[in-house]
Amino acid sequence: MIERIVPAGETAGPPTSSAAAGTRLDPWLGAYAQRTHGMRASEIRALFAVANRPEVVSLAGGMPYLDGLPLDVLSDVASRVVSQRGLQALQYGSGQGDVTLREQILDVMRLEGIDAHPDDVVVTTGSQQALDLVTRIFIDPGDVVVAEAPSYVGALGVFRAYQADVVHVPIDEHGLVPAALEETLASLAATGRRVKFLYTVPNFHNPAGVSLSTERRPAVLAIARRYGVLVLEDNPYGLLGFEGEPRPAIRSMDDEGVLYLGSFSKTFAPGYRVGWVVAPHAVREKLVLASESAILCPSSASQIAISTYLSTCDWQGQIKSYRELYRERRDATISALAEHLPEASWNVPDGGFYVWVKLPDGLDSKDMLPRAVTARVAYVPGTAFYYDGGGASHMRLSYCFPTPERIREGVRRLASVVAGEREL
Ligand code: PMP
Repeated sequence: MIERIVPAGETAGPPTSSAAAGTRLDPWLGAYAQRTHGMRASEIRALFAVANRPEVVSLAGGMPYLDGLPLDVLSDVASRVVSQRGLQALQYGSGQGDVTLREQILDVMRLEGIDAHPDDVVVTTGSQQALDLVTRIFIDPGDVVVAEAPSYVGALGVFRAYQADVVHVPIDEHGLVPAALEETLASLAATGRRVKFLYTVPNFHNPAGVSLSTERRPAVLAIARRYGVLVLEDNPYGLLGFEGEPRPAIRSMDDEGVLYLGSFSKTFAPGYRVGWVVAPHAVREKLVLASESAILCPSSASQIAISTYLSTCDWQGQIKSYRELYRERRDATISALAEHLPEASWNVPDGGFYVWVKLPDGLDSKDMLPRAVTARVAYVPGTAFYYDGGGASHMRLSYCFPTPERIREGVRRLASVVAGEREL
C-alpha cells in the first residue's frame, strides 16, 4: 500500500507499534458497524505524508495555491469578525446557515445563471459535508448512485461509507456522454435497480479536467428526468475557467430535479471550510435536520469571515487572479508533457486544477507510483477515481499548487520513470 512507499534516501522499517495495534490488536474489531467495513483511507490521503516532503514534486494533491492571497487584508477581516461581530461569531448559529451569507451566495451563483432564494441554500462545512448529507438522506445500503467514470475520489469515499453501489458512466472530451447515460439508466431500470441520484462534476472535472458541454447539459437533465433520477451537481471549480464566461449550471435549468453543491474552497480558500447546497424545499428540510444532527450548525466564525470577505474585498478580482495563475500552470504542464512525455496522451483542460494523463504501452499507474515517489515526483493513480478498480492506465496530475518551474521538473522526473518502466 502507499503508506509503505519509501522515498529516496530512507529505509523501510517495521510498522510503528501503534499502527500494528490498530490493525492486529484492535479490541473493538467485532464492534464496528457494518458500514465501516467499506471505509478506507483514500489513496490521496495516504500519499500526502510522502508527497508533502519538500524534495518531492507533488502533482498529487488538489490544494489551491494561496500565496497570492492578500493576507494583510484578510487579517483585517479576521480581526473585524471578532471586534465587530464577536458575540455572534463565537456563538452557535442557525442550522441552515447565516442568512446574510446565504444571500451573498446567491450573488456568487448568479454568475452561473442560478436564480434561487436564500431559503433554498444550506451552508455546510465545505461541500464535502454536503456530499455526506445528501448521501445520508438518500442512500440505503445497496442503492445505486450513477457517477462519471472517473469520479471525484472524496465522493466515492462517501458513497462507499453509506454502502451505495456506484455504477460508472463514461465521459469524453465534452463530459458525460448522454447516450451512455441513457443506456445505463435503461439497463438499471430493466433489472429493477433503484437509482437514487446521478453524481456529476460538470465543470473542470476532478480528475478528468473536462467540462460538460453547454449543449449536453439539457440533454443530461432530460434523461435524468425521464428516469426519475435526481442530479447531484458538484461544482467547486465552475468559476475557474481560463476562457470565456462560466457555463450555465445544470441547476439553472431545473430547480426541482437538481441538488447543487458549491464551495469557497477553490475560489477563495479551503481553511474556513464553507460550502453550500441548493435544494428544493422538501429536500432542504431533510438536509438541515441531517446537518443539525451531525454538527448542530456550521461554524459561525467561518461564515461571518466569508461574509465579511465577500462584502468588503474584491472577491471577483481574486477569482480572476486565480484563473490567471492556474492558466499559467496548466500551460506549463501541457508544454512539459508535450516535451518530455509525447508518448502519453492527455486532455487540455480549459479551467480548474487537473490533467488526466493516459500512460503509453499499457503501463499501470498504481504499480509505478512507488518508483515515481522514489524519483521524487507524486501523482494520483487513476484507480483512486473508480469504484471498481478501473483506471490503472491513467493518472491525475494536479497543477494547482507547484510553481511552473516545479511542474516542469516534476513532469521531467515522471518522464524518466515512465521511460524506466517501458524498459522493464
Ligand atoms: N467536490 C469536488 C469535485 C472536489 O474536488 C472537492 C475538493 N477537492 C470537494 C467536492 C470538497 O471540497 P470542499 O469540502 O473543500 O468544499
